Amino acid sequence: MAKYIFVVGGVISGVGKGITSASIGKILQSRGCRVTALKIDPYVNVDAGTMNPTEHGEVFVLDDGTECDQDMGNYERFLGRYLSKDNYMTTGSVYLSVIQRERNLEYGGRCVEVVPDIPLEVINRIKNAEKKNKADVVIVEIGGTAGEYQNILFLEAVRILKVRQPKDVLLILVSLLPALSAGGTELKTKPTQYAARTLNAAGLQVDLIMGRAPIPLDEKRREKIAFICGLASKDDVISAPNVDSIYEVPLNFEKDHLSDRLFEKLGLRSKQHDLNEWRSMVKRVKRVTEPVKIGIIGKYFGSGDFVLEDSYISVIEAVKHAAAEVNRKPVIQWLNSEEFERSKTALRKLLEYDGIVVPGGFGSRGVEGKIAAIQYCRENKIPYLGLCYGMQLATVEFARHVAGMKRANTTEIDPRTPYPVIDIMPEQKSNLANKHYGATMRLGAYPAVLSRGTIAGKAYDGRKISERHRHRYEVNPEYIERLKNKGLVFSGTSPDERLMEIMELPPAKHPFFLGTQFHPELKSSPLHPHPLFVRFIGAAKARAAARKR
Ligand code: GLN
Repeated sequence: MAKYIFVVGGVISGVGKGITSASIGKILQSRGCRVTALKIDPYVNVDAGTMNPTEHGEVFVLDDGTECDQDMGNYERFLGRYLSKDNYMTTGSVYLSVIQRERNLEYGGRCVEVVPDIPLEVINRIKNAEKKNKADVVIVEIGGTAGEYQNILFLEAVRILKVRQPKDVLLILVSLLPALSAGGTELKTKPTQYAARTLNAAGLQVDLIMGRAPIPLDEKRREKIAFICGLASKDDVISAPNVDSIYEVPLNFEKDHLSDRLFEKLGLRSKQHDLNEWRSMVKRVKRVTEPVKIGIIGKYFGSGDFVLEDSYISVIEAVKHAAAEVNRKPVIQWLNSEEFERSKTALRKLLEYDGIVVPGGFGSRGVEGKIAAIQYCRENKIPYLGLCYGMQLATVEFARHVAGMKRANTTEIDPRTPYPVIDIMPEQKSNLANKHYGATMRLGAYPAVLSRGTIAGKAYDGRKISERHRHRYEVNPEYIERLKNKGLVFSGTSPDERLMEIMELPPAKHPFFLGTQFHPELKSSPLHPHPLFVRFIGAAKARAAARKR
């Protein structure tokens, strides 16, 4: 029988539940447990695919094509395992399956009710994920914050499961301890007390509290929280101070003996304790000081100078993984593509960078600025990595400025372009015409075959790869020969050679200019940096060294 650890947040959203859940998973894994992790999102959207990244952060994509919350990416990166649709649910998806089952008369004619049928469906799904993953510990992160209306039915699922299996369920509260004094050393416990009490009102007693604060919690604070929130001991209050690298979090938790506490409470036993590989990775990340300056050109920014890093979280992490691999400290800067539309001199700023990334995107805003920046990188030999939209726009740029196809474009932007070098995939046309937007893109893992001797061919181990996709447009097959004749290399294609998966320029023409139709960032992890990112940062490192000279 498996054990279940539920993680809920208190006081504010964005308190770090995702990293906490992933870190708990990591340390239990290091002690020999077979861990899986689930994310519950308390919104009515059936999946995250229809949400704007500025609204909810990056849309993460799994091998099976599930479009989900970015926390699923954290779980994969920490656990080093690929997850599936069984590990993700939203209020909308839970209701959808209950209603579908009701329509199929599967409730045998009885009245179907919000309680207990919705929480029971939640429990079913958790158990299904447990079985599919053959897990002995299941970590379930409940989105939202204790005390809000949205996640109440998920808390009810925890309550029911705890009544049924009291020895197998643990509830962890990740809560904020604000510091108001100037030096920031006096941490306030009251909001955490309220959060724990709010859970009491939902019939739940917290077992452990992770105290998020700028600094580690002192003994007095831990005693007070334990006493008032009804914890067994002050050792059940774990410090979760701010850290330089998120990968440090599991190591920090272990300073407070978290895995021992969990093992004791859940009645688990193991002698194994192996976080060594992880520890040396963290050491390496923290040791490197030599910078490599990477610019990411995007448009999913918040207002003013505020950048919603969450919109590009996997890209940022993949850059970090690769930089650590080549012993460099990434300095990431955000470049607003619209700036390159307003002034040509803005482009000259790109020379200060060691590498430029144009990540995935949709729609027309900022596109001409991205194309101008890509042209500048190509002409000035600045290492360039294009991810999905970044690959499509690099193809457009090459068509316009090298292959002589004036006003070439993607039909996503200009349906009447004389040279539609990027065009909608035939199978996608009816989706758009019928407004079927949800979960209808080309999604998830597809294979590609690499050409020998190219950058991509050398980067990966084998010739056949599998990468994750999320797009509706593709390189138009009618223009492939013309682009190739002008020197563009398609170094990765679908096995039937119909779809262009990777484009690049030969090393004689450019130190590193490569774009992928897929999203390599979704499969990078700190212990296994993605080979294309490693090559890209390697080229950026070489440029940094040359710039210094
Ligand atoms: N908008 C492009 C498409 O749909 C690219 C998508 C992306 O970058 N993920 O094909």
